[in-house]
Amino acid sequence: MEKREMVIIGGGPAGLSAGIYASRAEVDTLLLERGIPGGLVINTENIENYPGFSNGINGYELMTQMEQQARRFGLEIYNNNVNYIEPAEDSYIIKTVKNEILTKAIIIATGAAPRQLDVPGESKYTGRGVSYCATCDGAFFRNQKVAVIGGGDAAVEEAIFLTRLVEKVYLVHRRGELRATKFVQKKAFNNPKIEFVWHNIVEEIHGTDTVNGLSVKDVRTGNKKNLDINGVFIYIGYQPNSQLVREIINLDDQGYIITDENMLTSLPGLYAAGDIRKKLLRQVITAVADGAIAAVAAEKYIENIFR
Ligand code: NAP
Repeated sequence: MEKREMVIIGGGPAGLSAGIYASRAEVDTLLLERGIPGGLVINTENIENYPGFSNGINGYELMTQMEQQARRFGLEIYNNNVNYIEPAEDSYIIKTVKNEILTKAIIIATGAAPRQLDVPGESKYTGRGVSYCATCDGAFFRNQKVAVIGGGDAAVEEAIFLTRLVEKVYLVHRRGELRATKFVQKKAFNNPKIEFVWHNIVEEIHGTDTVNGLSVKDVRTGNKKNLDINGVFIYIGYQPNSQLVREIINLDDQGYIITDENMLTSLPGLYAAGDIRKKLLRQVITAVADGAIAAVAAEKYIENIFR
C-alpha cells in the first residue's frame, strides 16, 4: 500500500493552494484529481475580482499558474478517482480506482458541481444545445439566439460573455430581481443584446437532433411561451461533491462540510477546503485561503501526533 503524510483530494484552487503550502513545508503530499487540475474556475473567461490582476485574469491561465507553482515545490499530482475513505487508527485508508493509500491527514477539496434544472429535455440535449459552461460551448452558437437560466453572478456574467458571440441572449430568471452583484447587474442592464425574461421558470427544453426551443412559464400569471433559441446555458448554483465523506463527518442540510476556523471537520486529521465547505462566500479568493489554512493545520496535526 502506498504511504503518504498528507493527501489532498481535488485539484481546484483550494486543493492546489493546500498543495503549495504543504509541499513548501516539505510534507510528503500527494494530490489526487479525477479530471484535469484547475477545478470549475478553468471555465471562467475573466475573473475580475481576484486581487493582483487589475484587468482581471482568465480562469485557465490563473489555474495553470497555480498548478505550476505547486509542482515547483514538489507537489505530486496523480490523475486518480477516489472511491472510498476509510478511517483507521490515527490514519486513513483511501481506496482509489487504481490503488490504496495510507495517510495521516486528508484535505478534501472536491468542490461543487453545477445544479441541474431537472426539466424534460435537459439530460437528453446536454452537449447538444444544453450546456453548463459558456466559455467551453459559447462559440458553437455564434450569431444564434441562446437562453441563460439563473439570476446569480454566474448566470449574469456568462450572459454578458455570450453577447460577444451570439446574436441575442434571453436571461430567464424566476424572480423580478437579480441576485448578482450590483456592478455585474449594471453591465447586463446596459447590454442591448440581453433580453430579461423575468418571473419565468423553464418547463421544457425542445429539440430534434439539437435544441431548438425553450418552454417557459410566468409564475405570476401561469402564461406559457416558447423561446426560439438554439442553446441553453444553465447557471442555477452548485451542489457540493461531498458524497465521499457524507457517512463519516458532519455536513449541513445541503451537504456542505461543516468545519471549524482551521478547516478541521468532525474527524481528527480530516480537513476540508474550498467550495465544499459550509461558508458565506464561495470564490477563488476564499478557496485559496481555505487551502492554505487547511495545509498548515494538517501539517501541525501530523507533527504533533506523529513526529
Ligand atoms: P447563486 O448565487 O446561488 O445563484 C443561483 C441563481 O439561480 C439564483 O438567481 C437562483 O434564483 C437561481 N435558481 C436556483 N435554483 C433554481 C431553479 N431550480 N430554477 C430556476 N432558477 C434557480 O449561484 P451562482 O451564480 O452559480 O454563484 C455561486 C457563488 O459563486 C455565489 O456566491 C457567487 O457570488 C459566486 N460567483 C462569483 C463570481 C464573481 O464574483 N466573479 C462569479 C460567479 C459566481 P433566486 O435568486 O431566486 O434564488
